[in-house]
Amino acid sequence: MESKLVWTIMKVLNWTKQYFAKKGVENPRLDAEILLCAVLACERINLYVDFERPLSDEELARFRGYVLRRGDQEPLAYILGEKGFMRNSFKVNRATLVPRPETELLVENIIHLAEQVGGDVKILDIGTGSGAIIVSLLDYLPQAKGVGVDISLEALTVARDNAQRIGVLDRCGFIRSDVFSKVPMDKKFDIIVSNPPYIPAADIAGLAQDVQQEPRGALDGGVDGLDFYRRITAEAADHLVEDGLLAFEIGYDQGEAVAALCREAGFSRTIVLKDYAELDRMVFGAKEGGKYADLLLEITK
Ligand code: SAM
Ligand code: GLN
Repeated sequence: MESKLVWTIMKVLNWTKQYFAKKGVENPRLDAEILLCAVLACERINLYVDFERPLSDEELARFRGYVLRRGDQEPLAYILGEKGFMRNSFKVNRATLVPRPETELLVENIIHLAEQVGGDVKILDIGTGSGAIIVSLLDYLPQAKGVGVDISLEALTVARDNAQRIGVLDRCGFIRSDVFSKVPMDKKFDIIVSNPPYIPAADIAGLAQDVQQEPRGALDGGVDGLDFYRRITAEAADHLVEDGLLAFEIGYDQGEAVAALCREAGFSRTIVLKDYAELDRMVFGAKEGGKYADLLLEITK
C-alpha cells in the first residue's frame, strides 16, 4: 500500500510559494510563512526550526483556506484580521483600509509637534477607518483627547474596538459624519488630521489587485484625487483653534496642490514632507504667528 503523503512545514511552504508566485502574489514566500504562522500560532523562526514537522489535517484545512484567499489577492491583513501599526496591532476588516507604514510617519510627526506644545491637545481625525491614526496618537500622547469620524458605520465599529483594546476609549469619541457635517461646531480642536481617500477615480482600476479589494470609499478622491482636501481645508478653520494645526497624508504628486489649498484657506505656513521612498507624502499647515508655524519650519531644517 502506498504511504500517505506527509505535508511537513517545508513541503507546505514550498508548494504554497510556487502557488502564490503563479497567482502573482507579491511576496510569495513571506506571505506563505506568515499565514502558516497564523495557523500554527508560532513565530517565523519556529518554522525553520521545525521544518520536518507534519501538519495535522485540521491545520492543513485551515491553511488551505487562507492560501486560497491570498491567491485571490485578498490582502494579508484581512485574512489575519489585524495589522501592526506603530506599537500596536489594529483589528481590520473589509470595511477598513489596511493601515500603511507611510501613515506611521504622519503619526510620528504629529506626536513630535504635539509634545513640543505640551501634549495636552484635542485632535480630530477625519476618515478614521480602523482608527490607526487617532488611536495611536492618543496612545502616545497620554494627555491628549480625540474624536474620530468616518462615513462608514462598519469602520467606526472597528475603530472603537481598537480604541478600547489599546486603552484610549475613555479619551476618544467616534462620530458618524460626512467630513465635518456632524462634528459639533462648539468644540474647537488643536489639530485636525486626515488621511482621506486621495486616489484619482480613474487610477483605481490600475492599482495592485489586493489594494482594489480595499473599500472603494477609502480610496476614491474624485476626478483629481483632491476632493477631500478641498472640503476639509474649506471648513477646517471653523473647527480649529486660531493657532491650530492641519495635517494630511497625500498622494505622491499632490504636495503642491494640497499645500496651495491650505494656503488659500489661510494656513499660510505649509510644509510638504516625504516618505521612506522619498515621495511627497504629508502636508502640514498652520497660520503664521501661531505656535505651530515655527515648529513646522524646524521640522524641515
Ligand atoms: N485613517 C485610516 C488610515 O489612515 O489607515 C483610514 C484612511 S482611508 C484612506 C479613508 C477613510 O475615509 C475611510 O475609512 C473612509 O470610509 C473614510 N471616508 C470616505 N468618505 C468619507 C466622508 N465623506 N466623510 C468621512 N469619512 C469618509
Ligand atoms: N495609501 C493608499 C494606497 O496607496 C491610498 C490611501 C488613500 O487614498 N488615502 O493605495
